[in-house]
Amino acid sequence: MFGIYELTKTDPKSLQERALKLSEEAGELAQAVLSVTNAPGSAYKNHSIDDVREEAVDAAIVALSLLAHTTETREEFENELHRLMIGKCAKWSEKISPRRDLPE
Ligand SMILES: [Mg+2]
Repeated sequence: MFGIYELTKTDPKSLQERALKLSEEAGELAQAVLSVTNAPGSAYKNHSIDDVREEAVDAAIVALSLLAHTTETREEFENELHRLMIGKCAKWSEKISPRRDLPE
């Protein structure tokens, strides 16, 4: 089965094109969320929570293809993804549950 790395290396899009595509998918996700939460002016679009899920995954796939674009091998892609996810999630965790043993 083709994974994100292989699909990225088969698809000739440039880094700039992938970044623009991510922006497009982020817009679609925003539109679905605005619709599903009945935001003023957006409720008529009639999206469902399934649309929100699909657009979230579209955005995630394009974001991962940006990472894949910058790597030379599947192993490098997977190692970088793992390393960065661990580090970024740790930072996120610190933000939402700050250590209490440090002075303010
Ligand atoms: Mg989409």
